[in-house]
Amino acid sequence: MAMLNKLHRIVEAVNQAPEFDTALRAMVTRVKAALETDVCSIYIADYQSEEFVLAASDGLKMTAGERITLKFGEGLISLAAQREEPLNFADATQHPSFKFIAEVEEENFNAMLVAPIIHQRRVLGVLAVQQMHVRAFSGEEESFVVTLAAQLASVIAHAEAKGLLAGHSAPWLRSLHAIPGSPGVAIGPAFIGKPAARLSAVVPRKTDKPWHHIRLFRKAVMQTRRELKQLAHQVADYVAEDTLAIFDVYQGMLDAASLGNAVEARIREGWMAQTAVKLTVEDYVAQFEDLDDPYLQERAVDVRDLGQRILAHLQKRVHDNKIVPDDCILVAEEVTASMLAGIPRHKLQGIVSLRGSANSHAAIMARSMGVPAVLGIEDVPLQYLEDQFLIVDGYSGELFVNPFEQVLEEYRQLQVEEEELAQIVAQHRDLPAQTKDGEAISLQMNAGLNIEHGKEHNGYVDGIGLYRTEIPFMMKDRFPTETEQRELYAQVLASFPNQSVVMRTLDVGGDKPLPYFPLHEDNPFLGWRGIRLTLDHPEIFLVQARAMLAANIDHGNLKVLLPMISSLEEVDEASRLLNQAYFEVRNELVQQQPGKTLQRPQLGVMIEVPGILYQMDMIAPRVDFFSVGTNDLTQYLLAVDRNNPRVAKLYDPYHPAVLRALMHIIETSNRLDKPVSVCGEFAGDPGGAMLLVAMGYRNLSMSSHNLDKVKWIIRHVHTSTLQVLLTQALKARHPSQVRRVVNNKLESLGLGGFVRAGK
Ligand code: PEP
Ligand code: MG
Repeated sequence: MAMLNKLHRIVEAVNQAPEFDTALRAMVTRVKAALETDVCSIYIADYQSEEFVLAASDGLKMTAGERITLKFGEGLISLAAQREEPLNFADATQHPSFKFIAEVEEENFNAMLVAPIIHQRRVLGVLAVQQMHVRAFSGEEESFVVTLAAQLASVIAHAEAKGLLAGHSAPWLRSLHAIPGSPGVAIGPAFIGKPAARLSAVVPRKTDKPWHHIRLFRKAVMQTRRELKQLAHQVADYVAEDTLAIFDVYQGMLDAASLGNAVEARIREGWMAQTAVKLTVEDYVAQFEDLDDPYLQERAVDVRDLGQRILAHLQKRVHDNKIVPDDCILVAEEVTASMLAGIPRHKLQGIVSLRGSANSHAAIMARSMGVPAVLGIEDVPLQYLEDQFLIVDGYSGELFVNPFEQVLEEYRQLQVEEEELAQIVAQHRDLPAQTKDGEAISLQMNAGLNIEHGKEHNGYVDGIGLYRTEIPFMMKDRFPTETEQRELYAQVLASFPNQSVVMRTLDVGGDKPLPYFPLHEDNPFLGWRGIRLTLDHPEIFLVQARAMLAANIDHGNLKVLLPMISSLEEVDEASRLLNQAYFEVRNELVQQQPGKTLQRPQLGVMIEVPGILYQMDMIAPRVDFFSVGTNDLTQYLLAVDRNNPRVAKLYDPYHPAVLRALMHIIETSNRLDKPVSVCGEFAGDPGGAMLLVAMGYRNLSMSSHNLDKVKWIIRHVHTSTLQVLLTQALKARHPSQVRRVVNNKLESLGLGGFVRAGK
């Protein structure tokens, strides 16, 4: 217990240290005292120069300005790092690997305990404790040092970042590791994006003139609406649907039924307008942040952004027009849609969002705009990036701060090559998607929000391969009515008049609860999700099915897709309900309108729950097509939560098990003569698309920003080349090996620019 207390105190002291050096010093001093020993030192690995650098020591002699190092492979420090385990020596000087460093005067120290400091499988350094007596450290002391090293690893990882940015740049630090959010390379000065006003800065105050404040609020709402319209207009030409649709969502949130009434109720309680906005928005934000689903948690960002825009109008300080430098990299705590819209596209090179992950809106938007982005470098204060020159590598997630000339030159060259590649690719958009030897591949688009925004691909794609209906459901504060749904679906069907549109029935539940339909489950991904939820609520399913069927009366291009199917019974039950909806719509609508006919749409099921792989022959006679959801299939096959950062490395569609499952699916579909498509992210991944085509898949559906790339790749490969690739990929034993095989192939075909920086 005493040890545990000591441990907590050490971690706390280190966490509170303002700078990297101070943190390291605090660490060694306290560990030395806690263990009542003679020396405690920290060595940090410098991978560039391949040596361990003595970064802090209490007990060894360190002279200012002198760099004390051990080459990788030298001494017991290297041994512990290499073996990735602690080593305990009663008399270290007797060990053949012991290396005596004269400068630090360590001749008197015999006993030594060394523990590697490992963060996310990477050895960051080594913690070493030494003592004059010849005696082995006790088991308790050893486990104390190991526990401490594990805790300190993340502290060091973050402190590294702080140290670099605060100008106390340790020589071994060159770049920060962030999460890659959108591929590409960006180079330029940081432009710090700050909200125009801060909700947190508002001090709650009361008023005795509520009507006056209601008027002020309504005026601010009107101004916000106008501003959002203008922003949406400014970006309309170059952003994809997800990005632009967010402005409709904002407008919806401003409606009385959403934020408006709640704020006005607060004003009537006696709060001033600014306070009422603060309290209401903060409530909403807390509710969103409480949700388990990372997608919905991200919506808290939008609500706060909107609230701050209204607040800025109330405070009349909207026109804080900072000059945006040319070729800038937008850096913000949280990059929001409207922040992005405020920057002219031709000036924006890249995006750095300190918060967020690959799922964040900032990442989705960046991808849809084709802007390189990295995210999630928490613990780096925003102000450190002010006035800095940056390189963003959206492939690897690296962020270089004031890079060396050599690094800069290298990246400039890569950037030129990237631009050339993107231009060539877009120019070939209108050519057919077929391999070099003429094998045609049907490419479709995934969609979910306003269909208007994928329109630039109209004519170049074969319709919509997946329309995710849950997104419009998530953007509301209640279930959309049948009429609302019908109008929306009709719009979607109308925008691809001569091509099929695959609409998926509602896939909410589990980790994706609707804001107005909260669920709390211990294992949400294994819970009440997709078809399971809608079959338990036939009234929800029937309304949606009727809306789809009715919308299809004038269009005739609808196909229906069922998500999360795990048994035949679910297919039968859903078919029964679809049948019922069919007769209802026929009786209600069609029979009263002579000349109109109601078609029975084709029905398909998602292949995403692994159990279904072994029931395909039973299900095939009941359905018209299969569609593979590689996102969930990967998650369920490998038992890895697709949104959990701790296991993010294990989530990999290149896993041999996933490849084998995909082989099984295409072979079974071919045997059963059932059409099959792939609509998960893997279909839009350059290497993934190649593997799928190699396996025999001929229908791929992907988000619009991947279409040009994938078409280009398909046009540059021969099916015989793909066969060779597939054989090698199926032989590989690890996901990393599969990737290597695929990336090498892309490189040898001159297509490496799609998976790393450069051409
Ligand atoms: C999938 O699981 O691969 C899929 C396409 O569906 P979603 O990502 O919406 O779960
Ligand atoms: Mg899915």
